[in-house]
Amino acid sequence: MKHCCVEMEFHLNDGDVGVTYSPKVRQYQLDVKDGCAVQVIAFCPWCGTKLPENLWDEWCEIVIDELGFDLLNENIPDKYKTDAWWLSKEEPKKK
Ligand SMILES: [Zn+2]
Repeated sequence: MKHCCVEMEFHLNDGDVGVTYSPKVRQYQLDVKDGCAVQVIAFCPWCGTKLPENLWDEWCEIVIDELGFDLLNENIPDKYKTDAWWLSKEEPKKK
């Protein structure tokens, strides 16, 4: 299991509740009803676990500042469109 609890796991897969997860920036969020925005959540609504902080700042630092892409550029390397970039950074620490 990749998320904090069975309920989170279930609702992310199920999609009925409107909780979504953005792997790219490790962000848990609620979809807003008008469909144009999201609300970031800091704690799991089911088990109360503090969710990991999102990685927007790091992502922007690397992709925008270092690599020079803008936010909507379609040529952003695939790695930065998924969780691959931060997973590969975290792995050495897990030993
Ligand atoms: Zn949970």
